[in-house]
Amino acid sequence: MYILGFDIGGTKTMVGVADESGTVLAMRRFETKSELGPKQALDRMKKAAREVVREAGVGVDVIGIGCGGPLDRKSGTLYTVPNLPGWEGICLTRELGEDFGVPAYLENDANAAAMGEHLFGAGKGIDDFVFMIVGTGIGGGIIANGRIYRGFGENAGEIGHHKIMSEGPPCPCGDRGCLEALASGTSIARIARERLAEKPETVIMQWVSSPEELTAELVARAASQGDPFASSVWQECMHNLGIGIANVVNILNPRLVILGGGVTKAGSLLFEPVRRVVRERAMPALAADVEVVPAKNGDLVGLMGAFAVAIDNVLGRA
Ligand SMILES: [Zn+2]
Repeated sequence: MYILGFDIGGTKTMVGVADESGTVLAMRRFETKSELGPKQALDRMKKAAREVVREAGVGVDVIGIGCGGPLDRKSGTLYTVPNLPGWEGICLTRELGEDFGVPAYLENDANAAAMGEHLFGAGKGIDDFVFMIVGTGIGGGIIANGRIYRGFGENAGEIGHHKIMSEGPPCPCGDRGCLEALASGTSIARIARERLAEKPETVIMQWVSSPEELTAELVARAASQGDPFASSVWQECMHNLGIGIANVVNILNPRLVILGGGVTKAGSLLFEPVRRVVRERAMPALAADVEVVPAKNGDLVGLMGAFAVAIDNVLGRA
């Protein structure tokens, strides 16, 4: 079985062809330019799809699509997606499936990534784990008893929006004090930017010409060099990420918490404090069961997820 996969994000899109074992035969990565509307992006996705299929030299049997939600998985249609302005009502399974005349399946990107880690990544052979993507936002996917857990209205796993601080900072979801508002890449940059108003001594100001250029990556880099200002912001955010994961561990008793996304590129600078907080703050019996590990699919976590979505729909496993 050969699968055409689409991983569609607000910033970048990946299109690829893989076989059933998850071996990628060809792929493309490009800017979504979502702000220019769906037409131009869909045209480029279709063109890239034709190219990767030609390059792979195989026939496509099924299509899997992972995309930021909220969306209606069954009809393959997007609702109002914050990262894809103007895409509301687009039926991705029809748009991207029509050129190939094969079945196409849609899943929200975090669930897809969890399914991809289950089938091909760090969660292979593990029936109970939680996947979290820590990047621009914080998303989650729950694998329970070997299957993705969707919940009654199919929107389960919004781990980024459980509350850590009752009167905390505003969150893109409309509420405040969510994990995402305290520990996503965007939030790490925002918190550092706010504190720069107090004019602290920091190497970061030698790297940027204005506070607007500040990113989570720069905070991590400065923290890794022992910059006191960056270290204090970073440690605070990692503490809150650890608290969020400890909550998830107490509720779900997973064997693994798998972390992917741009912020996890900080490596041990992220994993060491987070593991320590989980060990200290989750209930001891549950903390003893869990390991916090990086996603194995790395930068391909979303694309591998799209392949897994197709395999799950056709073969009933992922
Ligand atoms: Zn929120």
